[in-house]
Amino acid sequence: MRHVIALDVGGTGMKAALVGADGTLLHEVRRATGRERGPEAVVEGILGFAADLRAYGAERFGAGAVAAGVAVPGIVDAERGIALYAANLGWRDVPLRELLAARLGGVPVALGHDVRTGGLAEGRLGAGRGADRFLFVPLGTGIAGAIGIDGAIEAGAHGSAGEIGHVVVRPDGPECGCGQRGCLETLASAAAVTRAWAAASGDPTADAADCAKAVESGDPAAVRVWRAAVDALAAGLVTALTLLDPRTLIIGGGLAEAGDTLFTPLRAAVEARVTFQALPEIVPAALGDTAGCLGAGLLAWDLVAAGAGEARESTEAAEAGETTGEVGDSGETGETGETGDSADRSTDAAEATDVAGDTRTTQSAESAESVESSVPATPAAPAAPADPLATEVTA
Ligand SMILES: [Zn+2]
Repeated sequence: MRHVIALDVGGTGMKAALVGADGTLLHEVRRATGRERGPEAVVEGILGFAADLRAYGAERFGAGAVAAGVAVPGIVDAERGIALYAANLGWRDVPLRELLAARLGGVPVALGHDVRTGGLAEGRLGAGRGADRFLFVPLGTGIAGAIGIDGAIEAGAHGSAGEIGHVVVRPDGPECGCGQRGCLETLASAAAVTRAWAAASGDPTADAADCAKAVESGDPAAVRVWRAAVDALAAGLVTALTLLDPRTLIIGGGLAEAGDTLFTPLRAAVEARVTFQALPEIVPAALGDTAGCLGAGLLAWDLVAAGAGEARESTEAAEAGETTGEVGDSGETGETGETGDSADRSTDAAEATDVAGDTRTTQSAESAESVESSVPATPAAPAAPADPLATEVTA
């Protein structure tokens, strides 16, 4: 049976599936990401996982996967197939598409950003099904977004469209890892609610789900924490809907698991804030934590469809399976086969990573973590801010 490999790489776990042409999940499996072993081991883990999936498919279905889709966190150049930066995995400028294609015998490989890939699945298969314009916002450790337009996700000119988590909603609010203050994700992510509720309840182990339960039982301190988060969230979402005018607003991630405890006050808070804007339908995500994996499968099948289209135009393409491996490849990345050295791969890529506020390449998970925690510790010093976005705003 013709199938593709779908792989969603998270900070702690990887979810993978073999997906049939009709979207059926033929085989599902999970593995630890193993980020404690360092970025090179993580990359090797991804390649090995994909190779095992291909071997499994070949044995069970008579032929290996015809394509692969892989979703990764951080900053992703999907066009060139490069994982530019991921703070939680500690990698930079990894030519993942090329490495995967080499490991998988030249099949076409699509690389996508985790949230945009999840949004693609929510838009085509989940809560946004049938909506021509939607915004998908998962509320997890951080907050990101995927802008859906006519069945595709808008990546932006530099691959960072949809970063609603870094819209400033409280200019005097808490410091954010990006260098700003009062970003939406410092106030309304599951992690932010966990922090606020742990402090307010005096229980350092209490989390956002506990806060939601306390809200349901009428605890006034929990209600205050929850209202503050919902209010910040509504402010951020109204900014987004003013700009994008989506038909459907899909809210996912850990915080959305609170159900009506979140959605009832959130809808009211958004409604109270809009004036002329049309209210979108605000709905919970439907696919849960499988969205990224399902979206990776869609990316892979889209690539197969595009390859089939190109093959019709090219008589040569019909004979060589490898030819379809080059679909969508810029050539710049296609010619460099060897692994590892990515230092001189692209100065664009190096510049793009500055968005994350880091100034040099680190190759270990520990140092990446210290980068994350050191960023907020650096106050708004006027000297040489590493983040070009911060410069623009403060200028
Ligand atoms: Zn931020």
